Amino acid sequence: MFDKLSASLQKVFKNLRGYGKLTERNVQDALREVRMALLEADVNFQVAREFVARVQAKCLGTEVLDSVTPGQQVIKHVHDELVELLGGGAREFDLGGKRPAKVLLLGLNGAGKTTTAAKLARLWKKQGRRVVLVACDLKRPAAVEQLKILAGQVGVDFIGPQPGEGLHAFGRRALREAESVAWDVALFDSAGRLQVDAELVQELKELKEILDPRNAVLVLDAAIGQEALAVAETFHREIELTGLILTKLDGDARGGAALSVQHVAKCPILMTGVGERLEDLEPFHPDRLASRILGMGDIVSLVEKAQEAVDEDMLAQAEATLRKKALTLEDFLAQMQQMKKLGSMSSLLEMLPGVGQIPPDVREQAMVESEKEMKRAESIIRSMTPKERRHPELLDASRKRRIARGSGTDVTAINTLLNNFRRSQQMMQKMGKMQKKMMKLKRF
Ligand code: GDP
Ligand code: MG
Repeated sequence: MFDKLSASLQKVFKNLRGYGKLTERNVQDALREVRMALLEADVNFQVAREFVARVQAKCLGTEVLDSVTPGQQVIKHVHDELVELLGGGAREFDLGGKRPAKVLLLGLNGAGKTTTAAKLARLWKKQGRRVVLVACDLKRPAAVEQLKILAGQVGVDFIGPQPGEGLHAFGRRALREAESVAWDVALFDSAGRLQVDAELVQELKELKEILDPRNAVLVLDAAIGQEALAVAETFHREIELTGLILTKLDGDARGGAALSVQHVAKCPILMTGVGERLEDLEPFHPDRLASRILGMGDIVSLVEKAQEAVDEDMLAQAEATLRKKALTLEDFLAQMQQMKKLGSMSSLLEMLPGVGQIPPDVREQAMVESEKEMKRAESIIRSMTPKERRHPELLDASRKRRIARGSGTDVTAINTLLNNFRRSQQMMQKMGKMQKKMMKLKRF
């Protein structure tokens, strides 16, 4: 359902990634397009405007990491804000504490309350919980029957009203029964209306007071778009909610409801319904959904890895190296340690576009070789004295033999390392000046 939004955002980023360096103007243009894409996806106007303002502030306020491009960094900021908009970390039902944990489902007619009750019962039963479904929709006799059949299908217990029993009397009796048997979870289905009206609100308020559930969850049909926001807002105002479930996310709705509803309902989306079958229920993971919408999960994790690894010290160290005329073996070692912090070579490479086309066995072989070589180089350098690391010209035949013994290698391996090192040293000298200029340009 986020296909359209996803396509427009990816178009914006494709352009952005093309730039070697970004100007404030580039970023502003891109963010204007991001805002348009959000509005087209039915995201609330105010929400979209605040979203873009926050991303812009972040873009201008942070320096671009050396190991990523400015475009990649912007994508990361958009991703992070998208995760926030979708509610931050994943949230769960509160099923702990005194048994049974009570869950009341609320919502309009046709939103999917009864179906979702059965889906949840199925999920929790699979997790080893004992569940009872309670039919509190006494408006239509068929509704009680529907839930009873579903309870049978799922294989969980069921409590329904006696003929002629009113909602209040039934609610109290069902609650006593649920508490005496001490199921792990008691899941209460309720009656809806076509629209939110005073009568419905009053009835649900009373039911909630009787049941006193720890979870009062609004079931919302995502296909009704912006109208879902109005419903969520009213429920939030009248009946305190603890969470939301969005249903029919498998349809062709534009997705704006999912992106703005938590903003108005002030509570998290817990689950999503993605089809009519009982297994079509998915937990709501803001980060995964954001990555899916952007279609750029790889870039996001690449930037995250770079952020984790490059701390202030290392930046300072890198700059010091650039200022120095020559690279020493100690710098060489520090660089290798930084590479290690970034993760194994193979996991880094996997993230780069295009690598997927290299046959896996070829890739694997190359990876194994280069990681081996890195380990060998590290143990050689570690076997040198600090003085030798700074002045490799001191390394005569006898010193080399000592180092070979200490590192479990041979003199040839040491010579290879020294040759490689001299080549990097020459390259560094050439690049030094250029790189200093580039580091200035990359900040915008
Ligand atoms: P209630 O009135 O709120 O109890 O709604 P129901 O549970 O009876 O569901 C109304 C209709 O929506 C039924 O036909 C369900 O099969 C359908 N439905 C519920 N959830 C979903 C969903 O996630 N995706 C789709 N495609 N249909 C759903
Ligand atoms: Mg129902």
